[in-house]
Amino acid sequence: MQSMSYVFFDLEWNQGYPRNEAEKIDEIIQIGAHRLDRWEDPGASFSAYVRPSIHKRLHHQVRKILPLHQSQLKRAGTFREVISEFFRWCGPDPVFFTWGTCDARVLDTNLCWYGMEEYLDLEIYDLQRAFDLLVLETNRQTSLEAAVTALGLDGSLTYHDAGNDAIYTARIGAELIRRFGALPSAAELDAAQAALRLRQQQEAAEEAAHALDLLVRDATPALRRRSGPFPGEAACLHSRSARMFPCPACGGVLCSGSWYRIGTRYVSQSRCGEHGRFYSVLSVKPTSPDEIAGELLVFSEEDFPRELYHQCRLGGELVEMQKLPRKRRRRRHSGERKRA
Ligand SMILES: [Zn+2]
Repeated sequence: MQSMSYVFFDLEWNQGYPRNEAEKIDEIIQIGAHRLDRWEDPGASFSAYVRPSIHKRLHHQVRKILPLHQSQLKRAGTFREVISEFFRWCGPDPVFFTWGTCDARVLDTNLCWYGMEEYLDLEIYDLQRAFDLLVLETNRQTSLEAAVTALGLDGSLTYHDAGNDAIYTARIGAELIRRFGALPSAAELDAAQAALRLRQQQEAAEEAAHALDLLVRDATPALRRRSGPFPGEAACLHSRSARMFPCPACGGVLCSGSWYRIGTRYVSQSRCGEHGRFYSVLSVKPTSPDEIAGELLVFSEEDFPRELYHQCRLGGELVEMQKLPRKRRRRRHSGERKRA
């Protein structure tokens, strides 16, 4: 496998002010790449602008970010010319890398637009995902600049130039190889991501349980109500007395949504159109061997931190609630119904 090479590429694209679907395309205006034939090599660079044919003017947002001038694009080659030159430059057996998944998506739409389907379905490794999971143990999609800084690499080139960003991506790739020996496969990244998510959920559940203990002990609920007894928890959770209550400010009827189970408590949210969000905390306790009772505390949004509700959603076990059925009206004309 002497001819194998690692190609890190980065694209810059322009957008239009779309008046129809076709005009929504992100049009590539620069292709940058850096190729390593061995991980420890300095490598070779590729950078070329692309003459726009869809959006002739640079979008004002793009103009703000990219260190290039409209006139540089007018002298550039067409997309077909530049992309063909790029793939020739890559060599016979390239392994592709990008930072994040956007570049691959934009490359594909541009290839389709110009009818160059022969280049679709490239295998592209998302180096950002590997960095996030290996180095920061996060799933937060770290920016290229933040990753360069976190790894202590030389960051003296201008960012948002496709050629420079490709060099940065290659530096990060080489540094990950130096630190970890090899890059994880996509399946290994999936497994690491699943493990991370589980850990985040467990942490959120623990933090939420602790915060709820303190809240129930210290904060003053806007409403406190006992409900039950019920034959079991499900009956309690579905009951009107646990889910419906008057808005503490205006008395309008509120109904809370699905519950998130945190330890022995259930948390849910409801909203009064006029008085904002309210948070229900339902504690269930057995009252006899086959009966349970619930205690409902309702907190206003001043007393219930938004962050706590996010933790409950992340770490809690969802108990989905149906819409409460309307209270049935007494049928006065049962005779007529039978006839119909
Ligand atoms: Zn209200």
